Amino acid sequence: MRLMRTSAAALLLVVGSAGCGVLNTDGFAMPGLRRGVDVPSRVGQVAAAPLGSPALAPLGTGGYAFSMTNDDGSPVTFDPCRPIHVVVRPDQQPAGGAELLLWALGQVSGATGLTFIMDGPTTEPPTRDRRAFQPERYGDRWAPVLIAWADASDPMLGFGVLGRAGPDSFGTNKAGSLRYVSGVAVFNGPEIDGQLRTGDEEKARAVLLHELGHLVGLAHVADPYQVMYDTNAYPLSRYRDGDRRGLERLGLGRCFHDY
Ligand SMILES: [Zn+2]
Repeated sequence: MRLMRTSAAALLLVVGSAGCGVLNTDGFAMPGLRRGVDVPSRVGQVAAAPLGSPALAPLGTGGYAFSMTNDDGSPVTFDPCRPIHVVVRPDQQPAGGAELLLWALGQVSGATGLTFIMDGPTTEPPTRDRRAFQPERYGDRWAPVLIAWADASDPMLGFGVLGRAGPDSFGTNKAGSLRYVSGVAVFNGPEIDGQLRTGDEEKARAVLLHELGHLVGLAHVADPYQVMYDTNAYPLSRYRDGDRRGLERLGLGRCFHDY
């Protein structure tokens, strides 16, 4: 077993690799991993077929990049046969923040076909080395995706940073067994509150779409007219063609029945 980190990028002033805690193992044998201790003891909710289908993306090529890829170049994705559970740490959530988040998750769900389930609030603080399996807090399953509202004093953010997000991967890139099993997104509540209060709702929407794009596996692109550009030069309150092509591919991943 070795520890790997995916890059979790930030929108605006800081572009960095915060990283989220990532389990990475040596394949299906998973030597050294103890079920119920390091990983869930049982396979969770997994359907026979993907729960949804991604929206048909516009024709064209490129305009997107992936955070992680398999050896064959295909993107590492969440398992489309399982719902993605989400908990929210609401401490610095602005007025309208809950609705904004639901809207943005809906955009991601529509573009990818992935299903999100809101499990409710949590008190878990976001950390850079978050474990993807926390049975003491969430029971015998992969930890749900943590979405946290925070302020600039949070170690995951910093002055002027509007958000940061990334998925947690599990598996190995041998035989395409890597998949995302959890993740973290942190949003700067006071900054987004200011945007919402001063008529800059478009910017707030752009921040959430960008970070949730990272959460499901998109990386930055050089095209400033895509949501996944590394700064919001042109606040884009909807995914653009390249973003949508990338999200479509992220919704067409493999289903897993091992963990
Ligand atoms: Zn980013």
